[in-house]
Amino acid sequence: MIRYSKIPRGLPREILLLKGRGCKYRSCSFCDYYLDAGSEEEAAEANTPNIARLTGEYGAAEVVCSGSFTDIYGADLAALRERLSRVKIKTLILEGHWEDRIFIPRFREYFAQLNVIFKAGVETFDPEMGTLLGKRLGAGAAEIAAYFNHCNLLMGFRGQTYQSAETDLRDALSRFERVCVNLFTENSSPMRRDERLVRELEERLFPRFLDDPRVDILRENTDFGVGRYDE
Ligand code: SF4
Repeated sequence: MIRYSKIPRGLPREILLLKGRGCKYRSCSFCDYYLDAGSEEEAAEANTPNIARLTGEYGAAEVVCSGSFTDIYGADLAALRERLSRVKIKTLILEGHWEDRIFIPRFREYFAQLNVIFKAGVETFDPEMGTLLGKRLGAGAAEIAAYFNHCNLLMGFRGQTYQSAETDLRDALSRFERVCVNLFTENSSPMRRDERLVRELEERLFPRFLDDPRVDILRENTDFGVGRYDE
């Protein structure tokens, strides 16, 4: 699997997809990402050469792990911290679940030499859609933004309406510094993509944000360059 890439646009950064111990929630009806997990030894084997690929070119790196930042093994965190320091990366983006907000201070302390940005896997602020996705967070945009700087939204799945998706993006941009919109890519989960909604989003919503440096729009979940199997 490709685990290292570069994102030159928007917020230019390198990106790492680490193998971790696996998501502890596994309740989201659209997700099978957590299958990318392994033992500490397997993770080190997959991660070590990719952590070594960080160059510091943009001074920023995003680190994801098919789970939450708390699902990264300690040895990999230590290797990451050492590499970030060596290549003088100053900004680190870590992605995580709302429930892991209690660990944010500990991670800020661990990476104290860095500007650490936390990105929440929100997917939607709409309670009805949250129930459909199995991801009812029980918190709104303002509450989540008190802990997390960026957020992910999921769009284009069956059951979602255009209005709900548009409201999610508006709410996210009013509270978060940056937003990553992910069009749902079908996988082994039971969730299905709504092609008609995707067309409507492409025609009416996305053109308004194509040049907005605060918004990333991923048509495929591998658009950041990581997660593919064809290296
Ligand atoms: S979306 Fe995130 S929190 Fe939900 S099951 Fe997948 S990895 Fe876990």
